[in-house]
Amino acid sequence: MIRRFRIDEGGVHMIRTLIAGNWKMYKTIPEAVDFAERLKEELSTLPEGRDVAIAPTFTALHAVSGIIGGSLIKLCAQNLHEAAEGAFTGEISAAMICDAGCSHVIIGHSERRTLFGETDASVNRKMQSALAAGLKPIMCIGETLEQRECGETFSVIERQVKAGLHDLGAGDMAVVTIAYEPVWAIGTGKTATPEQAQEIHAFVRGIVTAVYGSDVAATLPIIYGGSVNPGNISAIMAQPDVNGALVGGASLDVDKFVKIVRY
Ligand code: PEP
Repeated sequence: MIRRFRIDEGGVHMIRTLIAGNWKMYKTIPEAVDFAERLKEELSTLPEGRDVAIAPTFTALHAVSGIIGGSLIKLCAQNLHEAAEGAFTGEISAAMICDAGCSHVIIGHSERRTLFGETDASVNRKMQSALAAGLKPIMCIGETLEQRECGETFSVIERQVKAGLHDLGAGDMAVVTIAYEPVWAIGTGKTATPEQAQEIHAFVRGIVTAVYGSDVAATLPIIYGGSVNPGNISAIMAQPDVNGALVGGASLDVDKFVKIVRY
């Protein structure tokens, strides 16, 4: 299997693999706590170079943090508000997410873009806010079925990548992950073929190379999301530019999620 490497003063480093579970608006606090306890037991060790994160709802973050703190499982929020604080009823800031124990945050998920009006510009402001607070953002991009069928996939992806990363420095990029999630594959049971995923991941890496240079691009984790399950994870992960997975539905079941993590 081909893997990307970075060479620095400490020697050669492989891009770490990230498997992240996005729980969306599922699980009450007791359900989230129970899941976290079971997951912690199952994942007391991880394969070399592999990171795992779970993204519960906001209300469960603090309780789940109490369970997985000190374990190998990282805590991720599903969204944030771009402002540091203010009169934004119902919103949650980056500092509050850190406070709840998160190291990561998902930004620009397609459900946020299509259902809640998020734009490339707001995604970029959220990226800046997350980075300023010391969070590691997972920036989601992906084309709709209509865009794919109209031959617009590459232009949409290029626009989302460039706009989402606008004004971010090379140093910021050290903690950024990009998640390619074709909208037509999310929650539909339709997975992109490994070759389709690889094509877009390589394209994204090419855009990042053009903007930031090959050192940054060669170490950028680009993860795939869209109906990932225990049966298709290995083929997707065998692609050279796929560095992990963002998992929705299958991450709600401990056994399935553990199988995906240990693909
Ligand atoms: C997601 O919500 O990011 C996702 C990829 O969902 P699913 O795995 O259910 O398609």
